[in-house]
Amino acid sequence: MAARLCPHCGNRVPATRVMALSDGMECPHCQTRLEVATGSRLIATTLGLVAAWFVWRVTRDSTNILGFALPVLLSFLAFGIVSPLVLIFTASLRLEPAAPVFEPVAAHGGHGQSVHDHAGGHH
Ligand SMILES: [Zn+2]
Repeated sequence: MAARLCPHCGNRVPATRVMALSDGMECPHCQTRLEVATGSRLIATTLGLVAAWFVWRVTRDSTNILGFALPVLLSFLAFGIVSPLVLIFTASLRLEPAAPVFEPVAAHGGHGQSVHDHAGGHH
């Protein structure tokens, strides 16, 4: 089972990190930027919705005095519980695409910056 394994160093990423930071986290072992693969997130969301629907179906026929609000609340809770749980057990991690680094000064030395300033300040 390869859930939550860092693709860079092969170590396991703590579930709490995957849950709290599914949009991006750092591997605690090698500090590589990671994210939960889209497929895993889709599965978690889908199963969470199924669970929410199931709870709603089961509870909506209850004769509880809170019969109207309770199913909605419970299904919301079901989604909030099931979805991250699924993520914990199934999440596959991938390297986060490197953010585009825009460093024209570094690429061209000091020259690029001065050319830019000259062109921009053309009065
Ligand atoms: Zn790692």
